[in-house]
Amino acid sequence: MPEGPEIWRAAARIAGSLGSGPLTSVVVGLERLEPLEGALLGACVLAVRPRGKALLTSFSTGHTLYSHNQLYGVWRVARAGAALPPTTRALRLSLSTAQGTAALYSATDVELWPTDSVHEHPFLQRVGPDVLDPDVDLDAVTARLRTFPRRRSRLGALLLDQGFFCGVGNYLRAEILWTASLHPSRTLASLSDDERGALAAALLEVPRASLRFRSARGERRFTFAVFGRAGRPCPRCGEAVVRTTDGGRRLYLCVTCQPL
Ligand SMILES: [Zn+2]
Repeated sequence: MPEGPEIWRAAARIAGSLGSGPLTSVVVGLERLEPLEGALLGACVLAVRPRGKALLTSFSTGHTLYSHNQLYGVWRVARAGAALPPTTRALRLSLSTAQGTAALYSATDVELWPTDSVHEHPFLQRVGPDVLDPDVDLDAVTARLRTFPRRRSRLGALLLDQGFFCGVGNYLRAEILWTASLHPSRTLASLSDDERGALAAALLEVPRASLRFRSARGERRFTFAVFGRAGRPCPRCGEAVVRTTDGGRRLYLCVTCQPL
């Protein structure tokens, strides 16, 4: 499953392919989506923003397209005049401007909402703040760590719960816990002020570093400190990184830097 940085990069590709000009073509592949053609033709894309695994594409008409890829949905993009990559998938929606085309295939959740009420969408009501959302800052994250009700859940489980924060998947979980020097069995209730501050900072810094390093061509790739590095030295203390499983998924940590 893609994690936040992959989803934000996909959103940037869609926004980049369409640019800011008006939609010159709207093609739908489902009968129930036919009203989108009239609603969106001529509209300009204002922003393409993920929230967890949902994508919110807002338009100058005051509408926002909510789409969630679930397991099979995929967006493809092409410059104007170029063909979209061939696929056997079923088209749901294709948006074109003078600059390019973005087409969504196979997704089951595609809905048009008024922008000012899309936050009421049931999925968006369930998910926590997205750690890659530039509007989510350290104060907001720290406050959520202080007030989130599940005080005695293990951090290893909480970090994969999209209702806590979204955008964090399995590799980011390991890297965030290592960066904050916290064992996955620690709980919110057990954190000191300093530890809470370190976790809040890591929740923002680690996903953002991953997005930054991998999105700029020519820059060095984001390198994992512990994820996938079992037996290799911890970059902080030199002890061997340990592989374990947590919630049925692999987790890597340094038991010296992250004592229980
Ligand atoms: Zn270490």
